[in-house]
Amino acid sequence: MYYPEPISKLIDSFMKLPGIGPKTAARLAFFVLTMKEDTVSTFAKALIDAKRNLMYCSVCGHITDVDPCQICSDKQRDISTICVVQDPKDVIAMEKMRDYQGLYHVLHGAISPMDGVGPEDINVASLITRLQDERIQELILATNPTIEGEATAMYISRLVKPSGIRTTRIAHGLPVGGDLEYADEVTLSKALEGRREL
Ligand SMILES: [Zn+2]
Repeated sequence: MYYPEPISKLIDSFMKLPGIGPKTAARLAFFVLTMKEDTVSTFAKALIDAKRNLMYCSVCGHITDVDPCQICSDKQRDISTICVVQDPKDVIAMEKMRDYQGLYHVLHGAISPMDGVGPEDINVASLITRLQDERIQELILATNPTIEGEATAMYISRLVKPSGIRTTRIAHGLPVGGDLEYADEVTLSKALEGRREL
């Protein structure tokens, strides 16, 4: 298939995004051609600004445009609790819920021996440094309910145990509206494990 060079470059760029195959990339590229020039400029600038002006918080590892991030520097938050997550997107999901007032720590991944990812490859060392602050009383391990996420939670909880800080694991269960019969074994066993008194 032949495209003029500028459009094939645009298609190649879209294909660098996750979940975008050649067909979708071509559709998006052709759509850009129909957009107003100032809309395209704003779009391009937003991409560059996001990359240039965002960094990882030096305390918690969340994405931010100020360091420390707004959550870490918010005096209203409960500094006795740190919720450990794998990804900045998890912080955003937790924040949307509005129930959690503590701080976060973003690991940027999970331990996965199969993929050669060890504890030293994720943001664990800075977590251990943070835990030297004696005001911290609880660590909530909110890594994903996958083999890697469970292994990471287990690893951190063992590491933290001697410090006397309470470590808890979020309960994983059946999705609301989900059918018991369609749940996989891990989900079902986690749901059972996380059962509570009624
Ligand atoms: Zn932060």
